[in-house]
Amino acid sequence: MNNFQRGALAALLIVTVGIAALAPAGIGFVVAARSERQQRVERLSVLADAALYRAEDITRRLSGALGEIGKVNEAPCSMSYLHALRQITLTHEQVRDAGAYDRDGRWQCSSLLGAVSAGTFDGLTLPPPDWRSPDGLSAWYGLARLPGGKESLVMGRDGFYITADPALYVDGIETGIAPEDRVAVINTEARRLIAGTPATDAAAVLAVYSQPPQWSDCAAIAVRQSASMPIAVIVSAPRETWRRRVRALPWGWLLGGVATGLACAGWLAFVVVRRVSPRGQLSDAVRRHQFIVAYQPIVDLATRRCVGAEALVRWKHHDRIVRPDHFIPLAEHGGLIQAITDQVLDTVLLELGDFLRRYADYYVSVNLSVPDLTTRRFLDVLGPAIAKQGVRPQQIRIEATERAFLDADAAKDVIDAFRRAGHAVYLDDFGTGYSSLSHLQSFRVDGLKIDKSFVDTIGQDAASSSVASHIIEMAATLDVQVIAEGIEREEQAAYLHARGAQSGQGWLFSPPLTAAEFIRYAGRTRGT
Ligand code: C2E
Ligand code: CA
Ligand code: CA
Repeated sequence: MNNFQRGALAALLIVTVGIAALAPAGIGFVVAARSERQQRVERLSVLADAALYRAEDITRRLSGALGEIGKVNEAPCSMSYLHALRQITLTHEQVRDAGAYDRDGRWQCSSLLGAVSAGTFDGLTLPPPDWRSPDGLSAWYGLARLPGGKESLVMGRDGFYITADPALYVDGIETGIAPEDRVAVINTEARRLIAGTPATDAAAVLAVYSQPPQWSDCAAIAVRQSASMPIAVIVSAPRETWRRRVRALPWGWLLGGVATGLACAGWLAFVVVRRVSPRGQLSDAVRRHQFIVAYQPIVDLATRRCVGAEALVRWKHHDRIVRPDHFIPLAEHGGLIQAITDQVLDTVLLELGDFLRRYADYYVSVNLSVPDLTTRRFLDVLGPAIAKQGVRPQQIRIEATERAFLDADAAKDVIDAFRRAGHAVYLDDFGTGYSSLSHLQSFRVDGLKIDKSFVDTIGQDAASSSVASHIIEMAATLDVQVIAEGIEREEQAAYLHARGAQSGQGWLFSPPLTAAEFIRYAGRTRGT
């Protein structure tokens, strides 16, 4: 995966995880907001029903009281008439005052103030009523000029009247009214405000009645029309403050959404990372045994006879063959190398077990990484495995990377153990590590492999062209074998042989082969 692909993948992952986290939260929020809105609509609807019930009830009571006055059979404004009016006022608590006026609307008397004499209210005339019913009931809304001074609702018929406090209409609503709710009662025929909560804007209320608005995002309005009288109520809840709205949100839903989102996102991220990360894919490969082994023949430089092979692992990934340089470092880093080594050994024994059992003079070299060179784990796997196959210990050689020698004590013990068990141990890539020489002095090994980079320069003028020769000399002094890697030209093979290297491998002899090809190759060189 290149940097661009990795970046694209990371971006995709972030977006997906973001969506996964936010989607349930978003759904939670929408559900929360909806249910909050639903609650407000329902509350307002209940309030509107209660307000209409109240308005109808008050209207009915007031006209009942007016009806009773109509039945008083006394001379208007006589002492006994006023007494009867006072009785009616007392029995109907909603009625503030009652009295009489003449044909021209001139005020005559009241239960509170008695008959008009020459006094303050002399000559007071009622204006034309705000509304008149077909059967002669008149109503004045918000009349301030009657005795008592306060704004009154006046209902009259046939020369007598009652007054009431308009606040009666909106004050006594029992059901679920909040301090900031607004209630207004209007006469729908006269288009007049009968009563409203404080600071009611009559014009606005009437406009709302004429054309009820749709739900705006914050404010809510409900309108109820009476079926039996020309009355309607308009109730509204003000725009909610953000604070109240936030408090009113069903947090359970929201938090549940976020929690579910995060859980989904975490799971998704886990799955994606596992599936698409290089380590995830490699780990998948280990689980699915996607490794195959190539065998590069090692030949005796003197006779050119094949003496064995190096087992080189390959990863069969989506019909592609991945070279070990591309995944061994990752496997070592990600703790997967031991499982891979075990699969290499299994494959070698499966593919070449018969061959090795039959031909005792061939061997297979296996590359080991640090963890299997500093613990006895692989040794403990190897022993029983070859015993079961009837393969001799000498037929499995170990190629040890120099990096294992950083933990010198552990490596020394394990290498000694391999050798005691009968496995020859070779120092791989000899000469490339800074401390190769000191290793050769302090560790007992059976041989070393001259790295390809030193073989490449043979015959050239480069300063390193004689390194291979020096290594071979030194090996002779220490009495260890030499295998040269990466021999591509005859001239290199001749040079190395002349200096004393015993064996070598490289494309000059053969590239890495399948097991069957290797067996054929070994058979061919046996004859030479
Ligand atoms: P190495 O141990 O130095 O293996 C020799 C590498 O040189 C192999 O590459 C081989 O294919 C290549 N080679 C051999 N002859 C020639 C030649 O004439 N010319 C050229 N240009 N190349 C040649 P490969 O198979 O890609 O292996 C690379 C490295 O991966 C190996 O280097 C070894 O360090 C590591 N490796 C391979 N198999 C395993 C394994 O099973 N376990 C572990 N831990 N490491 C492995
Ligand atoms: Ca090797
Ligand atoms: Ca090498």
